[in-house]
Amino acid sequence: MEKIKMENKIVEMDGDEMTRILWKMIKDELLLPFVELNTEYYDLGLPCRDETNDKVTHDAGEAIKKWHVGVKCATITPNAQRVEEYHLKEMWKSPNGTIRAILDGTVFRAPILLSHVKPAVRNWKKPITIARHAYGDVYKGTEYRVPEKGKAELVFTGENGASFRETVYDFECPGVLQGLYNKDSSIESFAHSCFQYAIDTKQDLWFATKDTISKQYDQTFKLIFQDIFEKHYKEKFESLGIEYFYTLIDDAVARVIRSEGGYIWACKNYDGDVMSDMVSTAFGSLAMMTSVLVSPEGNYEYEAAHGTVTRHYYRYLKGEETSTNPVATIFAWSGALRKRGELDANKALSDFADKLEAACINTLESGTVTKDLAALWEGPAPTVVNSLDFIRAIRADLEKRL
Ligand code: NAP
Ligand code: MG
Repeated sequence: MEKIKMENKIVEMDGDEMTRILWKMIKDELLLPFVELNTEYYDLGLPCRDETNDKVTHDAGEAIKKWHVGVKCATITPNAQRVEEYHLKEMWKSPNGTIRAILDGTVFRAPILLSHVKPAVRNWKKPITIARHAYGDVYKGTEYRVPEKGKAELVFTGENGASFRETVYDFECPGVLQGLYNKDSSIESFAHSCFQYAIDTKQDLWFATKDTISKQYDQTFKLIFQDIFEKHYKEKFESLGIEYFYTLIDDAVARVIRSEGGYIWACKNYDGDVMSDMVSTAFGSLAMMTSVLVSPEGNYEYEAAHGTVTRHYYRYLKGEETSTNPVATIFAWSGALRKRGELDANKALSDFADKLEAACINTLESGTVTKDLAALWEGPAPTVVNSLDFIRAIRADLEKRL
């Protein structure tokens, strides 16, 4: 078979630990034999980030703006322990945070469903996609450990004379203090990305905040969404028979649990971080959760929702075999290849992405699985294999389809 050609590049961002090992297996077994991979490679592994003073992460983010499609391996976000472990010059920032700040996008996370893995919430039948605003709030907050009695104030000094000063709290003892912000422009992009994604995937869009308590901050999110919906998307939604609705976050949580799925749930940054873990766990395995960052300018970055699977990596380093699930990482590649195919009108490439995903699903549905899924499996006992054997089983299935 002749290899599939790629006209334009995909930005390839390598990562850390077990997912870096999987990354290479996936390329060697499932991509390079079939596709003339045309990527611009950035090594976001922690040693290279440290060596380049994190320049490599910024360069990768800029490259996604140029090529419009990127695929990223999971990476370590350093903490104090990692600084020691990797002898880091600094506690570098989260690469995902850095890239999100460059692209100003929204992260959409959706689970891959299997007939043998029943969601913990028994009425969920269709995927629930979490749309997470990936800018500002607590992730860009300023914090202060209040050491003594004293007054904390919120002060704004406008360039044209607007000003604001109000007491946050008159501390009678030590405590904590945090300043958060967001920008209308970013909330607007968030809203546009969500409405567009709802139209692309023909699903309802739910949005929820705590505007009854946060009467300026969360209220602004609510109003911007409503305004953009009415001005730009209402008619399109009506013609597609899909719905946008806003509710309080606590009401949304109750409705989500009672629903059967099949919609997009837009969340502020922190809510999205937490709820995507809840939703993916309830659907089955974190290893079956896909993730794509969509920017309002039409840039796409695909990744798995899980991390670098450190515990498995330490076992791998001791020479043990691991049964780490590569599916979400494979779907990151297939997502990027399909989008590249769509943008370049390269049908062979998009078809390959579809077949790669079908091969993954069919391998699993036929009962060849990784360990994380075996624990959740219902029906005839599956065969649990290690990561490489699992990837080779997918390859065998894929070869039949090509
Ligand atoms: P994690 O890597 O997602 O792993 C947590 C646990 O979930 C694993 O120990 C494993 O459970 C299970 N798991 C996750 N992915 C799996 C897979 N593909 N196959 C099988 N089991 C899987 O989260 P973490 O341990 O909290 O974080 C590890 C590192 O990843 C941290 O340094 C963090 O900074 C980074 N991280 C990166 C990203 C990203 O780049 N997007 C996201 C989150 C975390 P068992 O051990 O019980 O098998
Ligand atoms: Mg999280």
